[in-house]
Amino acid sequence: MTVTDDKTAEMVRADNVHKSFGSLEVLKGIDLVVKPGEVCCVLGPSGSGKSTFLRCINHLEKINAGRIFVDGELIGYRERGGKLHELRDREVAEQRRAIGMVFQRFNLFPHMTVMQNVMEAPLRVKRENRGEVRERAAALLERVGLSAKKDNYPGQLSGGQQQRVAIARALAMRPKLMLFDEPTSALDPELVGEVLDVMKDLARDGMTMIVVTHEIGFAREVGDSLIFMDGGVVVEQGPPREVIGNPQQERTKAFLSKVL
Ligand code: ADP
Ligand code: MG
Repeated sequence: MTVTDDKTAEMVRADNVHKSFGSLEVLKGIDLVVKPGEVCCVLGPSGSGKSTFLRCINHLEKINAGRIFVDGELIGYRERGGKLHELRDREVAEQRRAIGMVFQRFNLFPHMTVMQNVMEAPLRVKRENRGEVRERAAALLERVGLSAKKDNYPGQLSGGQQQRVAIARALAMRPKLMLFDEPTSALDPELVGEVLDVMKDLARDGMTMIVVTHEIGFAREVGDSLIFMDGGVVVEQGPPREVIGNPQQERTKAFLSKVL
């Protein structure tokens, strides 16, 4: 791992990240720094590149230019003699394990119980001790308020409950960074709060988080920083209260006037 002095206080660093799909340039030079323990909220209209950017952070998408570091480690590549060499699949998989991701759709394994869903990755991917994993999974389910559902199947749970299981499942790998991509967008309005509460609890506990969300209240209350993306660039960033309360850019103003 290459840790240099200027990166030690940064959990995530994106330098001039570019990403294209064919001739469509989706990310046009994204810069971002997220410090350990910070919650960074990402706002922006549909199609602005938010999901693509999150996917680049754990190398689900390969970037075309720039650099992404997580905890000082260059993601997806090794730099040698000024050149980038892509990491082997196994090395990429190892980097990904440290990064939890929660999507809009919960993607739980339908044929496994809640408990089995949470235990699956530590058992199969990390080959950890079953007893320890079971204990940790039970504690995580307690934490997201779902101990009573541990033997149920995902299909027997509400959307909000499923999303809380998805969060517990990601946490079971003990990630140092959590990425959330519109985690409440697919939920009925009355179920949004219970998922945001779990995320708030996680933030209070010191987890570093990047959260793509349209929940302005959450961004204002829980976010340490906010970036507004449009057309593949960061249009504006700063403390959430300032950006939301007093946006400087026309595009930010136009977007906020629609969602507030
Ligand atoms: P957001 O999450 O902000 O709504 P996305 O990152 O999903 O935006 O998408 C940004 C743009 O990239 C969109 O125009 C989308 O159609 C395009 N895009 C995303 N993924 C792919 C892909 N795998 N292939 C081609 N185009 C894609
Ligand atoms: Mg998206």
